[in-house]
Amino acid sequence: MKLTTLLSAGLLFGSSFSIADEHKSPLTVTPVAKQLHVIYGQGGNIAVSHGKDGLYIIDDQFARLSNDIKKALGNIQTNRAEFVVSTHHHGDHTGGNENFASDGSHVIAHHNVHKRLEEKHGKNSKFLPVLSFGHDMTLHFNNEKANLKHYPHAHTDGDSVVFFTKANAIHLGDIYFNLGGLPFVDVDSGGSLSGVIDAVTDVLTHADDKSIIIPGHGQVTDKQSLKKYLVLLKRARSLMIEAMSDNKTMAEVVAIAPLSPLSLKYSNWLSQERTTELFYRSLKAKHHH
Ligand SMILES: [Zn+2]
Repeated sequence: MKLTTLLSAGLLFGSSFSIADEHKSPLTVTPVAKQLHVIYGQGGNIAVSHGKDGLYIIDDQFARLSNDIKKALGNIQTNRAEFVVSTHHHGDHTGGNENFASDGSHVIAHHNVHKRLEEKHGKNSKFLPVLSFGHDMTLHFNNEKANLKHYPHAHTDGDSVVFFTKANAIHLGDIYFNLGGLPFVDVDSGGSLSGVIDAVTDVLTHADDKSIIIPGHGQVTDKQSLKKYLVLLKRARSLMIEAMSDNKTMAEVVAIAPLSPLSLKYSNWLSQERTTELFYRSLKAKHHH
């Protein structure tokens, strides 16, 4: 009996046994639909599609986790991912690209992700997608039809949302931070607050009450949570626009602390002040629509 078979048998029958392993994996693997798993770890959430054609993943966290991720994939089906879809270029979502590409995985992402990863890693780097696309692309694999759709100027300028149409699951990448607060809008990489709002609004039209919503960070959730997130984003934008009246400078707006009425928690790397600055710059920018 193969180890994987033993493992799934163990899971199936609820018996508790563990493999002697001194290395504790930092990953948590959760089935969310028949042929779809989500891996939580450090960095962006990974979705795993598996079935008759093989296996592919959405995002791959950090390079140091690649071996743990491959081991986790091996427990699901096979440790070789046919494709790695990068939802955007940030290092906590693409850090494993090189390690997976070295095993023969084909990295797929929007043209702008290719451009930004090339700027960061150089022309012939294995971090770069070997397949890049413009508006959208569809993977017909594992009896699943996965639509990759580009949303311009959202979290960055290269975000793709992945719609698993049969599993009824949607991976939003960092367009959705499900951490109870406001998202990081990477204005320096072409991101825009209004673009995030537009993207979430559009994604909601493709979701129903049974849809599995996979955020870039935080727990897998449902359409209701995504709706609440949209309400929060719109409130934040209104507060910002109100505070920005009379052509106030960024310093003046930060001093007002316009986001305070939302009573949200902030992290060290993304403080309320920094969020206010990013939103200010986004709402001042020309591509604001
Ligand atoms: Zn990101």
